[in-house]
Amino acid sequence: MTGYPNLLSPLDFGFLTLPNRAVMGSMHTGLEETGDWNRVAAFYAERALGGAGIIVTGGIAPNREGAVFPKAAALCTAGEVTGHRSVTRRVHDCGGRIAMQILHAGRYAYGENCVAPSAIKSPISPFTPRELDAEGIEKQISDIADTAARAREAGYDGIEIMASEGYFLNQFLVRRTNRRTDAWGGSYENRMRLPLQVLRRCRSSTGADFLIIFRLSLIDLVEEGSNWDEVTKLARAVENAGADIINTGIGWHEARIPTIATSVPRRAFAWVTKKLMGTVGIPVIASNRVNSPEVAEEIIAEGCCDLVSMARPFLADAEFIAKATRGHAKSIVPCIACNQACLDHTFAGKISTCLVNPRACHEESLRYDPAPVPKRIAVVGAGPAGLATALVSAMRGHKVELFEKADRIGGQLNMARRIPGKEEFHGLVEWYETMLTELGITLRLATNPEINQLSTYDEIIIATGVKPRTPEIAGQESANVLNYAELLGGDAEAGRRVAIIGAGGIGFDVAEFLVSDGRNAGDIDAWLTEWGVADPEQHRGGLHPSGALPGQPLRQVTLLQRKPTRPGKGLGKTTGWIHRGKLRMKQVEMLSGVDYRRIDNDGVHITLAGNGASPRLIAADTIIICAGQVPERSLAERLQQAGHRPYLIGGAVEAKELDAKRAIDQGSRLAAEL
Ligand code: NAP
Ligand code: SF4
Repeated sequence: MTGYPNLLSPLDFGFLTLPNRAVMGSMHTGLEETGDWNRVAAFYAERALGGAGIIVTGGIAPNREGAVFPKAAALCTAGEVTGHRSVTRRVHDCGGRIAMQILHAGRYAYGENCVAPSAIKSPISPFTPRELDAEGIEKQISDIADTAARAREAGYDGIEIMASEGYFLNQFLVRRTNRRTDAWGGSYENRMRLPLQVLRRCRSSTGADFLIIFRLSLIDLVEEGSNWDEVTKLARAVENAGADIINTGIGWHEARIPTIATSVPRRAFAWVTKKLMGTVGIPVIASNRVNSPEVAEEIIAEGCCDLVSMARPFLADAEFIAKATRGHAKSIVPCIACNQACLDHTFAGKISTCLVNPRACHEESLRYDPAPVPKRIAVVGAGPAGLATALVSAMRGHKVELFEKADRIGGQLNMARRIPGKEEFHGLVEWYETMLTELGITLRLATNPEINQLSTYDEIIIATGVKPRTPEIAGQESANVLNYAELLGGDAEAGRRVAIIGAGGIGFDVAEFLVSDGRNAGDIDAWLTEWGVADPEQHRGGLHPSGALPGQPLRQVTLLQRKPTRPGKGLGKTTGWIHRGKLRMKQVEMLSGVDYRRIDNDGVHITLAGNGASPRLIAADTIIICAGQVPERSLAERLQQAGHRPYLIGGAVEAKELDAKRAIDQGSRLAAEL
């Protein structure tokens, strides 16, 4: 018996048996769009080998008008079957199972030809959709049903019909997007008609022995979303129309409430899925912010769901289930829900990967094969870059010694973990600790190695990171001035009124640290209240009529930057709006176009662009400098002067726009070559 009896128990559908309850959820990675089906197959094959109960592919369009963007992957013609078949074959050869998600984006499609129940533009799209006539509706239904049949022909074990997150089928369900007065709009019976027709036609085009998962939005988190009565009515109808599983969707893409970001507590929405349990007889999947086998096991055991969908965790670690099964859960690479290398890449038109696992989506090109000649390697600096180098080098059979001047590993990660809403960073540092031991890496904490000590190694890697930049503002040496490292390192406290100089990622983090006490970390009820999420049985769409209730800020904070652009513009595409929203909710004043004149006991004296350059005092008890970083490479320079040729990685090479993603990627790639 393993530690996860529920998660690892099989589920038999007669024609198909899932060996466990872990669904690798649908994710758009951009791989299918490359047309390199070997690469797509390699990505899914690793996850199949790694034990996922069933994989659901990224969304595949049933026709051009429904494609998320003009060149998005589709399965609308017989000619497209071949590529998909090479994927299903590889997955089956690895002992896995795979279902294809059919995604019709409706008004979310990024194209002028997009279609929807009504011609209402979404707030997150520049295109107003064309309202479908009866003939157009029939075309959409038959395109989806034909695509389902092609999916079966391509060897998939099933399909997932995407009817949540505000996509096409979801758009028919609610008045917010469906203002029709014909048989496809008006009463709820009419609004359900299209999703149900699609489901029935997919069932009849694929046959009884083919898995159909229907993804149904349980809590829309938008105005005029579904109420609970409608949700349960639809769920029963979906069961009667022939679905095998209901997957539960949380929040439309246009919702202004975070649903998957790292600041969302783990399992924050499992209670909504639990409400559906018992309403239908078919299995139900829960999703959103489940990233460990413990949490997955817990929510199944508590009766919240029958299966758990995890998408990003399978990017972070293809072997998630295999490791849990072997009793090695501590060595599962944790997804920290940062979105930095997955969703942010998708929105930038880049192929997804993973901050903590740069091999994700690069399975063939980035390999950690055994080193031809094992070497003795010294890595100096146990921040993300140094840790990644040490781990990958050791995985490849090198003998690694890791030096760190502090008394613990983690570098800048230790600052991130102090920020309320970034608690996942604790798990990441703990994972590195586990792996250092598991891989037999010698760790020397509180150690500054000497040149002659380092000169005995075959390779020297310098990952000494960064130090805070000094902005050269008159008065910056005053006693009321701290840098972010002093504050987040716990060496000093801030007063009640604080001015922050610099509004990059760290300036925002420091502002969040200062306005919240972090006491509610991980408290689901407190988080739901803060963001205005209500029980959908009480309030339509799950939106509380009072809106967000963020509570009083702990301090009065002003965030300053010199650039004239909107503060936070450079933050992650999919998470920046959450950080900006959070600070607005906590009444943080954010100023751009600032010219710093001087700092004194009263605070920061500035002038503001476009304000006649009239002086202004930002009254503050404490001023925190978050003005970026500069490389710390004194050791590298001394080594070079002594005739050595160390490798420089991470912030020690270039501090500008350095983040953990770049540091880990660079360290892993270097180690793959050593
Ligand atoms: P950063 O993003 O480069 O921001 C530095 C800030 O300091 C900017 O607002 C810059 O704006 C200001 N600044 C630069 N030189 C200055 C000077 N001489 N005097 C006064 N102000 C100056 O650096 P960071 O905030 O330290 O973040 C480091 C890295 O970690 C970044 O890559 C960041 O993306 C990443 N990170 C991201 C997040 C997140 O996404 N949530 C969180 C933490 C860290 P002006 O020059 O306009 O004043
Ligand atoms: Fe998770 Fe971040 Fe990796 Fe995405 S990039 S899978 S959110 S750890």
